[in-house]
Amino acid sequence: MDIRRVGVLGAGTMGNGIAHVFARGGYSVILCDVEQRFLDRGLATITKNLDREVAKNKITAEDKASALKKIEPVTERGKLADCDFIVEAATEKFEIKAEIFRDLDRLARPEVILSSNTSSISITKLGALTKRPDKVIGMHFFNPVLVMKLVEVIRGLATSQETFTTVRDLSIKLDKTTVEVNDAPGFVSNRVLMPLLNEAMYTVMEGVATPEAVDEIFKLGMAHPMGPLTLADFIGLDVCLDIMRVMLDGLGDPKYRPCPLLIKMVDAGWLGRKSGRGFYKY
Ligand code: NAD
Repeated sequence: MDIRRVGVLGAGTMGNGIAHVFARGGYSVILCDVEQRFLDRGLATITKNLDREVAKNKITAEDKASALKKIEPVTERGKLADCDFIVEAATEKFEIKAEIFRDLDRLARPEVILSSNTSSISITKLGALTKRPDKVIGMHFFNPVLVMKLVEVIRGLATSQETFTTVRDLSIKLDKTTVEVNDAPGFVSNRVLMPLLNEAMYTVMEGVATPEAVDEIFKLGMAHPMGPLTLADFIGLDVCLDIMRVMLDGLGDPKYRPCPLLIKMVDAGWLGRKSGRGFYKY
């Protein structure tokens, strides 16, 4: 299948990074979000990151200009109709993604693969909302998209081998490495990572240690590049909470119960780095 034009839904933390890697890889990108201000913010981040790549001599100023030219920001979803491949990177809520997948199924040509960057939501369930469940797949990039090599590729129950091969080959063209997993809440990455972050939050809530102390233990004792609370702030506390809820709901085990402190912080609008305050102030 000849993929030239890629649709990306959501211009947030992940969507702008995904648009960036596709544009730098030579693809035309239609970047869609619900409001112009989210697109403006996403494009500002892409420009800043391209500048950084130019400064480090990873790309030339011409490469930067041509990558930026390849990204068309839109608020009208209908403009995704002539895309050859679509990545959904919208908010981690099932109802939001369900509405998007139903609509994309109506909009996109029947042969187009609809992929989701979801961190935890069932690919099988998203596929079942469409008339092309064999062409629905998880393409899970990691944050920051430009830096992290991994794409966790998630097969829904109905995902075809052809769809899997296309996404694997596409990821390799973007200079990423894929690991294949089957569909289950949280897949592998977040099934294992999120309970660690959640438990770190419990230790802070119970007064066992400060966020700084918890993070120091993981950096110096486990050689993690950043501690679990710094990482949670980086991911976004709302995203962490959504993922814990999907796992609690989908796996039914109380060990996935979100930490009450996490719930309280999200209620307060303390979402981590992106809102200026989380376990730390930015
Ligand atoms: P974010 O909150 O930074 O961005 C989400 C964007 O989606 C927002 O700009 C929002 O306006 C937009 N959006 C909401 N509804 C939309 C719709 N109907 N159509 C188009 N755009 C819409 O969130 P994020 O961190 O970028 O997460 C996006 C997805 O990526 C989620 O599924 C999340 O679980 C996943 N993910 C996040 C991380 C991370 O570290 N943050 C890592 C891997 C995967």
